[in-house]
Amino acid sequence: MRILPAEAVDRLLAGSIVAIPTETVYGLAADGLNEAAVRAIFVAKGRPADHPLILHVADAERAAAHARWDERADLLLDLWPGPLTLVLWNRDVPAIVRGGHPTVAMRVPDHPIALEILSAVGPLAAPSANRFGGVSPTRVEHVGIEFPGLPVVDGGPCRVGVESTIVSLLEGRPRLLRPGSVSLEELMARLGGVEVGGTIAAPGNLEAHYAPRGRVVLVPHGTPGAHVPAPERTEHARRLYDDLRHHDALGVDPIVCELAAPVGIGLAVNDRLMRAAAG
Ligand code: AMP
Ligand code: MG
Repeated sequence: MRILPAEAVDRLLAGSIVAIPTETVYGLAADGLNEAAVRAIFVAKGRPADHPLILHVADAERAAAHARWDERADLLLDLWPGPLTLVLWNRDVPAIVRGGHPTVAMRVPDHPIALEILSAVGPLAAPSANRFGGVSPTRVEHVGIEFPGLPVVDGGPCRVGVESTIVSLLEGRPRLLRPGSVSLEELMARLGGVEVGGTIAAPGNLEAHYAPRGRVVLVPHGTPGAHVPAPERTEHARRLYDDLRHHDALGVDPIVCELAAPVGIGLAVNDRLMRAAAG
């Protein structure tokens, strides 16, 4: 059910969940400081309670208020609003959002509707608006397929199309936990050294995730004739989940996907394709 941003604000303030657009994927949002509201996200998605949610905030000041700030975050701040999530030591975010971990993951999304709702409601917990383990929604129609009847604000197709880059600042060296459109190259240039890969038990880090129903078979970059080809890199990321859903809906099995060149956002595309293939 399509709703306007003002109605989403009312519903969120009343403790309900609604789907909202962001530049990465559509999110299933709840008031991030309302435990009962956040619990409804876990129930709707079928997401295990120990898998933490990203807290979306309106600006960096708000993020700094909820976590122990780290000066290295200042080197990344001009990437906000944007598809970059920072993991910091928690200050006062409810445990349910954090999956019980002592840390909190936050970002400022770069989407006018998301920002409008955030400034009216305050921080929002908002994982992707799909059932646990499935393909993230990048168009408003996908949300209706995942959750028929769920109120959703139509923000058009998502500009980025893959989930945010996640960087942990918990340790001595920054750590890339999930590749996204803010590239490893960009992070290296700003932070100096960056470790790659993470240990936190979390959905985006499960070997099998982002998976359609049909099997996914991967072919090397440059292989012609794939169902899901890898054209220009940014374009590939934007269309990736829509292409997977499209072929899945047609009953294509296996879905043959061409890996991207492993640079820039290509790392994120390949990460998601490998998890889809493992599903
Ligand atoms: P998503 O599935 O897009 O909502 O993103 C959730 C991802 O954010 C998880 O897979 C983790 O990698 C990361 N994350 C969220 N919250 C935390 C946290 N408190 N500590 C560490 N990582 C987190
Ligand atoms: Mg997700």
